[in-house]
Amino acid sequence: MKPIYLDYSATTPVDPRVLSKMLPYFGELFGNAASKNHSFGWAAEQAVDEAREAVAALIGAQAKEIVFTSGATESDNLALLGVAEMYAEKGKHIITCVTEHKAILDPAHYLATKGFEVTFLPVDKTGSLDLQALEAAITPQTILISLMAANNEIGTIHPLKEIGAMAKKHDVLFHTDATQATGKIPLDVEAMGIDLMSLSAHKMYGPKGVGALYVRRRKPRVRLAPILHGGGHERGMRSGTLNVPGIVGFGEACRIAQLEMAEEAERLISLRDRLQKGLESQLDFVFLNGHPQNRLPGNLNLSFAYVEGESLMMGMENIAVSSGSACTSASLEPSYVLRALGVSEDLAHCSIRFSLGRFTTEEEIDLAIQKTVETVRRLREMSPLYDMAKEGIDISSIKWTSH
Ligand SMILES: *Cc1c(COP(=O)(O)O)cnc(C)c1O
Repeated sequence: MKPIYLDYSATTPVDPRVLSKMLPYFGELFGNAASKNHSFGWAAEQAVDEAREAVAALIGAQAKEIVFTSGATESDNLALLGVAEMYAEKGKHIITCVTEHKAILDPAHYLATKGFEVTFLPVDKTGSLDLQALEAAITPQTILISLMAANNEIGTIHPLKEIGAMAKKHDVLFHTDATQATGKIPLDVEAMGIDLMSLSAHKMYGPKGVGALYVRRRKPRVRLAPILHGGGHERGMRSGTLNVPGIVGFGEACRIAQLEMAEEAERLISLRDRLQKGLESQLDFVFLNGHPQNRLPGNLNLSFAYVEGESLMMGMENIAVSSGSACTSASLEPSYVLRALGVSEDLAHCSIRFSLGRFTTEEEIDLAIQKTVETVRRLREMSPLYDMAKEGIDISSIKWTSH
């Protein structure tokens, strides 16, 4: 069986249209966009300008407000560290959330070691924020609120417009890590009051190793201390020779996403619902992680109770998905995102994130349903806990004897 890719939240294949647009920039159009004295440089610069327009257009920004980076990890670091250093005299308090990506959490923890106070807001069992708690956390010392647009594990979407309005009301900058949301749901930095936004090309059918940070230029003009010092590229905020082929691909990926987003979202929701219904109609004790409605079109995160996480992943051979227990990586810790939702350690361990994308077909979804149902049934045949649960015995109430 040909492997089926249902891990689009981890990365996406480069769209063939994107690739063909990039190829000349590895060949005859190899110029450095910073070379102002000859046609090689001008051609590269023009291609970068076009891409900048396309990235900006997707999020309702101006081209000049786009700073190209190596990806969302760098954009997130630049937003947090850059704002922290530049606005430290105004205050040293930052607000973020426990379900953010590590590219936010780690720089936030780093800042906490450098004298900043960081508030990590909790979420409810759907992964949603309490906006009153957010407002209550704002102090005169607060300089930045950083909250993601949509979560990478559970797909839950945060109310950006409401957060943006609240940030504005209190004169605090608002950064959003929109890596999972760009090209999937409509985003508008003006309508949503966003001051900084992180994007990554490889989550939206562009190449790996390129991304952007949107930095608002007016009302207010956001200032950032750079992390990389050098030739003063990107208005001094990110020095380094531009990755011209990557940027060209990123621009094309944004242009396509903007054209096709609405239709594609509908298609993905219908495939995602087919997957969910297919699994839930054939299996019991299946639990949805995340928000039942308010989530990304292609995301489906489910826990299959009474199966062991590692065996589940192994049984799902040829279906490329992500698991909530990081058993394939260095740690055996269950997902911190699911734990923050209050999902029990057992259920977090047997969770699977299916993430669908542009090249997912109905046939693939039906095969994935079949394979998952087979695997879960086979594993449950070996599970005495599953038999007891089916008979209606509340396992959590059992007093296990210990010696
Ligand atoms: C993938 C991802 C990142 C990291 O992006 P890179 O471009 O791979 O560095 C950051 N935040 C979120 C929410 C992501 O999904």
